[in-house]
Amino acid sequence: MAQDPNCIFCKIVAGTIPCFKLYEDAKTLAFLDINPANPGHALVIPKNHAPNLVASADDDLAAVLATTRRVAAAIEHALKPYGFNLLQANGPGAAQSVMHFHMHIIPRVQGDDLKMNWGLKPGDKAALAEMAKRIKVV
Ligand code: 5GP
Ligand code: ZN
Repeated sequence: MAQDPNCIFCKIVAGTIPCFKLYEDAKTLAFLDINPANPGHALVIPKNHAPNLVASADDDLAAVLATTRRVAAAIEHALKPYGFNLLQANGPGAAQSVMHFHMHIIPRVQGDDLKMNWGLKPGDKAALAEMAKRIKVV
């Protein structure tokens, strides 16, 4: 598996830093974003390190999209959001801050007036732990 020892998401894959995990399979990992734009904001990553979409292998991208569908279905079931957006940033100019390919799943709340480049506001750890339990991915 391709790993970058300095990459925060590779460390999450390796289990050396913790996350609020939602789902894991051979190729992918899904967990809650630590700075949620809205409750239930989740990230889906390939376990193989690649910095962005263009550098990613097709089979990793296919696996990420399948996991994204699975996690989004669980979020819909658990949270009944108004809707949800998928977001995937490439490069600092697009506000990519972690250089390991990832898909955002952002549940929407009616009237949230969310902008797609949001400021990072730390989530409450107890609320994140509760949210990870509430979203049951099958
Ligand atoms: P980007 O800005 O690259 O599209 O998104 C990176 C996301 O990763 C941000 O929304 C940020 O909150 C999240 N993030 C950064 N470090 C960590 C971490 O250590 N754990 C978790 N769960 N999320 C992180
Ligand atoms: Zn990485």
